[in-house]
Amino acid sequence: MDEITRIASLIENCYLVKGDHCYLVDTSNPKARKRIDKALAERGVKPQDLTHILITHYHVDHTGNLADLKRESGAAVVAGAADIPYIEGEKPPEIGSDLNRIGRLLGKLPRSITMSYQKCDGAPVDTPLEGGETIAELGLEVMALPGHTPGGMCFLDRANRRAFVGDMVSNYFGRVGTPTICASYSLEYIEASMRKLAESGLEYMYPGHGRIIGPGASELVAAYVRKRFGR
Ligand SMILES: [Zn+2]
Repeated sequence: MDEITRIASLIENCYLVKGDHCYLVDTSNPKARKRIDKALAERGVKPQDLTHILITHYHVDHTGNLADLKRESGAAVVAGAADIPYIEGEKPPEIGSDLNRIGRLLGKLPRSITMSYQKCDGAPVDTPLEGGETIAELGLEVMALPGHTPGGMCFLDRANRRAFVGDMVSNYFGRVGTPTICASYSLEYIEASMRKLAESGLEYMYPGHGRIIGPGASELVAAYVRKRFGR
């Protein structure tokens, strides 16, 4: 079974997976590069050894080192089609959200302020994803999880009942929860995406924020969804 290393920065996680291929899921914020290099070195991996970089969604705390790592490794970058304009730098990130007060407040702040912590270089994506694909060489299925961003993707290792879920499930302080609402665009899609994960029979989920979820990850999410959304 491929070995997964959680690389935790101040707030977010990215993951190194080492097996027949070495690849990263997400790349953390731009300031986390040293942590990534350290984690790679501890596993005997050089940035040039990376064959793939899988992006769960476009936010800067997940794509902050993508441009550099892509340049250094030539790794194949895959990401959700709807998030690609943001990842490649063609569109600026959406700041704030209509879904709650903090989101609306963030949306009203001058972009000079909000963009100062959102800056990262655009990076080219090799393969756009819609969900439903398989990445055969890595033994992964792709599942679309819109709601936090339009092109959010989950990478699912069905054989081992585990998945990289991006921000669709957070696990701050060991408590399963939604993505950060003030940085999301659709509560309806979040609910649908969380229900998909609840029904996926996963033992472990590897979230973008907080500790690894599991064992019994899908059941934990199902219990949360019932409490939060009913049924
Ligand atoms: Zn995010």
